[in-house]
Amino acid sequence: MPLNIKFPFSDNKNILYKYLLENGFDNHFSTKQKLYYSFVRPILPVSLRKKLQEKINSNIKWETNFINSELINELKNEIIELFKYIDGKKCSIVLTHDVEATSGFNFIPKVLELEERYGFKSSWNIVPYKYKIDEGIIKLILNSGHEIGIHGYNHDGKLYYSEKIFNQRVTFINEALKKYAAVGFRSPMVHRNLEWLQKLNIEYDASCFDYDPFQPFPGGTGSIWPFIAGKFVELPYTLPQDHTMFYVLKQKDISIWKNKADWVAKNKGVILTLTHPDYLRERNHLELYEELLEYLKTLENAWYCLPKELAEWWKGKYNYYC
Ligand SMILES: [Zn+2]
Repeated sequence: MPLNIKFPFSDNKNILYKYLLENGFDNHFSTKQKLYYSFVRPILPVSLRKKLQEKINSNIKWETNFINSELINELKNEIIELFKYIDGKKCSIVLTHDVEATSGFNFIPKVLELEERYGFKSSWNIVPYKYKIDEGIIKLILNSGHEIGIHGYNHDGKLYYSEKIFNQRVTFINEALKKYAAVGFRSPMVHRNLEWLQKLNIEYDASCFDYDPFQPFPGGTGSIWPFIAGKFVELPYTLPQDHTMFYVLKQKDISIWKNKADWVAKNKGVILTLTHPDYLRERNHLELYEELLEYLKTLENAWYCLPKELAEWWKGKYNYYC
């Protein structure tokens, strides 16, 4: 049975659907990649790994505004006009974080406090089998109305090596989802296979993006709106990740984030951010993130919501229209 994928606006044969099938549906490790990740990468000194990555990144062609202009030009004929948000809102804003290591985990309260100051709630995707998970911080997240999601299994980059490995980990990931009352998932390094992910007990997945050529598996869904992927809702991130902004592209300001946010809002999309407390705690990154929050507050008529709220609303909306 092929995976049932449904986009808004028109039928399944629309531009976004075709684009997804060609680019962002799943990823496959080549034998070369598997060898590199299994044997070469673990023994490469970090400095050499960085140099290699920089060399790879320097050859990537990218749209400086992070907008897939080719696709969007085609999409102009699609009817966005009919698209209606909850309570007459014009776009939505969803803040998500992936927590990579203990130091990042311990920095959660600081970022959370900052977001609260600006009136935002966010989701925190934790790795269940990698670092020590402090129950006090989990309680803080949940008691203050934020959300927990699950970020892979142990973040070793091998979750999608083969369907066999993925299946072996499913039970453990589902246990973690249950333990933390989580309904959302994001794969480490945004590897993805929307078919395999159907085995997880989730309401939404957030391992896709609309446009991001700097990921190990680039592709991209092209969609700045959620879509239905089988039994769950897919929520692509739409602003480039903090790591891409600050380390790969060495940005000193947040103009890329601002421009993209404006454009997504104009098209009634979801401004979905993906940052890491691990990187926000370094240099002046928290200040730059605060600048982003400040900017997002200026966007008129935006719905601030948690990913689980957006997914629930989207499912209802979809059922209503179809
Ligand atoms: Zn991660």
